[in-house]
Amino acid sequence: MDSYRHKGLRSKLVQTLVQKGITNRRVLQAISEVPRHLFLDKAFEEWAYKDQAFPISSGQTISQPYTVAYQTELLDPQPNDKILEIGTGSGYQASVLSLLCKRIYSVERHLSLYQSTAKRLKDIGYNSVRTLYGDGYLGAEKFAPFDKIIITAGATELPQALITQLKIGGYLVIPIGQHEDKIMIRITKKEDGSLGKEEFGHFRFVPFLQGVT
Ligand code: SAH
Repeated sequence: MDSYRHKGLRSKLVQTLVQKGITNRRVLQAISEVPRHLFLDKAFEEWAYKDQAFPISSGQTISQPYTVAYQTELLDPQPNDKILEIGTGSGYQASVLSLLCKRIYSVERHLSLYQSTAKRLKDIGYNSVRTLYGDGYLGAEKFAPFDKIIITAGATELPQALITQLKIGGYLVIPIGQHEDKIMIRITKKEDGSLGKEEFGHFRFVPFLQGVT
């Protein structure tokens, strides 16, 4: 399932990410461990360790490794964190996070994708990821509050429910923009409930859509 060849390709990918400016050692270590080829159809295995996004089922994509590393670095996951991801997709980002903190909840709005990814994560053995089917606009109230929240689809606005479900002192990382080009934003919830906002680089994402399908 995971060969020396795959491991070698992953360490090259990690070198590429370092060259592109990723510095967090724990994040790089997690990327060097997660077998990304198991998140693509077998026919496309060749593409797994290129630093590129790639189409998966239901018209969605597995995020580019650089984007996964970048968002994870901004989230600064700590071992005891409880994290919410919106946009499970292939489950790759959730798997990377699962090596860095205690509990991950991940919401997907596409039923068939939710089902196939839940099975994949179970097969690979990433048991600390709890996959949920639903509309990520609403977050996951039942399991709130979260130390950190990450949105892996391109939004046009900041959903209020997600802010409500974030702990004081917590981070929320979300790509926002009115067009295809999104700006990566990190929101910090302060002691008095007000929000801090930092802006980072430009990225492209599949759209964050309301409702389920
Ligand atoms: N994190 C994924 C990348 C997924 S692409 C990975 O590592 O592969 C973005 C995903 O967000 C898609 O699967 C899309 O269906 C999902 N999505 C978009 N809007 C959503 C919403 N409102 N709630 C939950 N998931 C959503």
